Amino acid sequence: MLRGGYLFYEVGRRAAAFAAEHPDAELIRMGIGDVTRPLVPAVIEALHKAVDDMSRAETFHGYGPDFGYDFLREAILRRDYAARGVSLDLDEIFVSDGAKCDVGNIQELFSSDAVVAVMDPVYPVYVDTNVMSGRSGRFDEQKGGYERIVYMPCRAENGFVPELPKERADVLYLCFPNNPTGMTLSKEHLKRFVDYARQSGALLLYDSAYESYISDPAMPHSIYEIEGAKECAVEFRSMSKTAGFTGTRCAYTVVPKAISARDTLGNTVRLRDLWARRVSTKFNGVSYITQRGAAAAYSKIGNEQVLAVVADYMENARIIREGLQQAGYTVYGGVNAPYIWLKVPHGDSWKFFDELLSGYHIIGTPGAGFGSAGEGYLRMTAFATRENTIRAMERIKRGSV
Ligand code: PLP
Repeated sequence: MLRGGYLFYEVGRRAAAFAAEHPDAELIRMGIGDVTRPLVPAVIEALHKAVDDMSRAETFHGYGPDFGYDFLREAILRRDYAARGVSLDLDEIFVSDGAKCDVGNIQELFSSDAVVAVMDPVYPVYVDTNVMSGRSGRFDEQKGGYERIVYMPCRAENGFVPELPKERADVLYLCFPNNPTGMTLSKEHLKRFVDYARQSGALLLYDSAYESYISDPAMPHSIYEIEGAKECAVEFRSMSKTAGFTGTRCAYTVVPKAISARDTLGNTVRLRDLWARRVSTKFNGVSYITQRGAAAAYSKIGNEQVLAVVADYMENARIIREGLQQAGYTVYGGVNAPYIWLKVPHGDSWKFFDELLSGYHIIGTPGAGFGSAGEGYLRMTAFATRENTIRAMERIKRGSV
């Protein structure tokens, strides 16, 4: 059974209660990871044109291909993979309406006794969807997690890099650049997971929704940059944070044909075929209009515009990181990811959330909401406007609103 409420509901509830009591307070929202900049001009232009296509019988589009239009999948292959030396086939790319749905739905392919391992702190969707499917035991208050789920703690002491699970794990969820810690994983570290998966037969689910925020040239953008990953890893990508599609909805999942799985009869099957079966049974594709908009983000001009927006958010990240450091805080992340992971001086993340809200009128996200290893930290996002980001840091440095 699922425990507790959704983290962002409680954050919203406390913020609303404070706002009701203090109607003049100008709250600065640095909690929920939603973008604030509009879609870039190349995308808007393509969306308008696609709407016009729908108005004429000759260019009208009804049901599209379940796995996405080739014009988008080809653009993905070219810019996200071939450009980084990774070759994939078109039928290994599945376009969807969001990485949240995909990372949440993929567990439908696994048997109910599969053992799932997650990083702690963690994007809650990985855990909650497995709990909803009965793949966990009860929530153990002492352990701070569910029975039968393997947790890989990521703390300052291990550089926020998960260690390989000591218990058996069939499926490992990895997320880099990480939400919420903002940390990335080097090729050497990632290789350890790939080697582990190949040796043990485990499956890696690699969520790289924040890949476009990587600035360090040494960091891998895709798990397929690691040799052997195509045999053991599924990769999830999203247009949400890259191209501002949080409200427009477009993402994709890569399931290489080289990954094999065992079905209930003991037959060896391709995981790609199972996912294709699931997608075509339960999904009717992303709208033509949306996919045209997404493809425009992959054009030369669209890509330049999108990267300029990402750079702008990353300037906010720098302002937050340096502002907090100047105010005497220890911070992590914010270099290759839009998230800054602040070490809470007294260690109580919900108490610090309340102090930040009442003392500075700033809304963050308490680390405890991402898992027990998140206690002692608070997440801030770089998605606020530049003006609000600067104002927030001024308040913190000044020590008052
Ligand atoms: N994966 C991670 C790690 C995220 O943080 C988010 C959104 O916050 C998502 C996936 C969801 O992406 P989408 O908007 O494509 O559903």
